[in-house]
Amino acid sequence: MNRTIFTATLALLLTLTLSACGTDKPGDAATPQKEDAGHDETGHGHEEGESETDGTTIKAALAEQSGIISAPVQAGTIADEHEVQGLLTPVDGRVAQVMARFPGPIRTLRANVGDRVRAGQPLASIDSNLSLTTYSINAPISGVVLARQAQVGAVAGEGTPLFEIGDLSELWVDLHIFGADTQHITAGVPVTVTRMTDGVSQGTTLERVLPGTATASQSTVARATVRNDDGSWRPGAAVTARIVVAMQPAEKVVPLSALQTMEGRDVVFVRDGETYTARPVILGARDASKVEVKSGLEIGEQVVVEQSYVVKADIGKAGASHEH
Ligand SMILES: [Zn+2]
Repeated sequence: MNRTIFTATLALLLTLTLSACGTDKPGDAATPQKEDAGHDETGHGHEEGESETDGTTIKAALAEQSGIISAPVQAGTIADEHEVQGLLTPVDGRVAQVMARFPGPIRTLRANVGDRVRAGQPLASIDSNLSLTTYSINAPISGVVLARQAQVGAVAGEGTPLFEIGDLSELWVDLHIFGADTQHITAGVPVTVTRMTDGVSQGTTLERVLPGTATASQSTVARATVRNDDGSWRPGAAVTARIVVAMQPAEKVVPLSALQTMEGRDVVFVRDGETYTARPVILGARDASKVEVKSGLEIGEQVVVEQSYVVKADIGKAGASHEH
């Protein structure tokens, strides 16, 4: 309860701080190296005419209650990740058409769409017009009945597909890759595939980049396989995938959750006991969860990695009380 009220109050204060300031926008992550690194050597010193205050004190118990967590700056890796889209399709050669061998009326049907069948299981019996005997049609592979075009009493023609059975225990994920990424993304790299319907993910490996280009979209298809033991991955469904091309070592890394922007600059909050100080940082490469710090921090310094916006709001509050 207390925490909710506390957070709500800080959120309100944050809003007031931002509207008073009016120029709070995210830092330009695309060109971090272009910034003048000179003024960062001093770390957290006041810049003239800039911030009124850049630090605050938060009691340990209150910090804990607010979910503020700090962790030491460490070396790490930054992934080169590509987010792409794709479609699930049955694996080639694992869909079978089941035909009538000889024409004749269908006498019985023993499988419906959606049924799981095993190889050799009888699916239908047909009275042959040629031999005047009844013969059985069996499943050629184990899988799921995807389609059935048959009714009892109807005449099955020679070569007419009565059933379509798919082994969907694995599916292909065909991912669409554009432009220069085609040269960049190669087989063997890890892929995380996510269903768009419910966000469920599965890790796999990129198996191959197909030769040729899809004419309509001018994309190249990169293919992976997902396991589908429970049948919850459905052919035809759209997915997104995160392809990790390379992992670059970085000397100093902080989670993205540590980053805030104050007066147009990227900052993190360095904790020393119960004192929290905004520290401008120069950022390098980033991935989905973390960012390289090129300067402004030293290895081992304690940085707020969770609820950093709460610290930012508290510093804003401290600044406001100084001014008025
Ligand atoms: Zn890349």
